[in-house]
Amino acid sequence: MTTYERIVILTGAGLSAESGLDTFRDQNGIWAKHNIEDVATPEAFARDPQTVLDFYNARRRSARHVRPNAAHVALARLEADFPGSVITVTQNIDPLHEWAGTKNLIHMHGEILKALCAHCGARKPWEEDLTVDLVCDTCHRAGGMRPDVVWFGEMPYRMEEIYDALGACDLFISVGTSGNVYPAAGLVAEARAAGAYTVELNLEPSEGISMFAEAIHGKATVVVPAYVAKLLNS
Ligand SMILES: [Zn+2]
Repeated sequence: MTTYERIVILTGAGLSAESGLDTFRDQNGIWAKHNIEDVATPEAFARDPQTVLDFYNARRRSARHVRPNAAHVALARLEADFPGSVITVTQNIDPLHEWAGTKNLIHMHGEILKALCAHCGARKPWEEDLTVDLVCDTCHRAGGMRPDVVWFGEMPYRMEEIYDALGACDLFISVGTSGNVYPAAGLVAEARAAGAYTVELNLEPSEGISMFAEAIHGKATVVVPAYVAKLLNS
């Protein structure tokens, strides 16, 4: 068995792409077809809430009909079988990590299958479309029900916990992340500063590749199960 004791895994859109979910930043990704300023900011929600809700209603419908792939399953197996601690931090808003069985999970950009009341902060599981006339069943006010996702200009969730985990980890694995979106892009630097060994598993070299001690490039459903098997058998 390895000498590692505490693993932090950071995952991004490249992990879920092979489950059939559109990525955001690729050439043909979601941001090539929609303006961020129109659909993914608090200002857009204030100005034209139904357009924002419809954008995320489409994302929610897609997320409900996909299944975890072999890479999600391998990462869940790593968490289950590794004798030390494993924390998975995901930038993905889809539910595929938890559907694969991952338990110790931080959704730093929120979850598409939850709604958040902008008036009172209540969060609830949500599978149907959101509309502007919905009434929050906690505070009974209308017009505030939004997807529980972190918009541009908002603070990612649970950053203190994430930095604590990075400061204590001895292995950091980045899976399917482009490495150009902060604060996620800065997480590898935190892990390095803490003395962790850093590994990139990605379809192609990311923008942050110089921060990694090791990089393995290929399809997530191929390279992730192989890397997990090696880690668990070494
Ligand atoms: Zn409310």
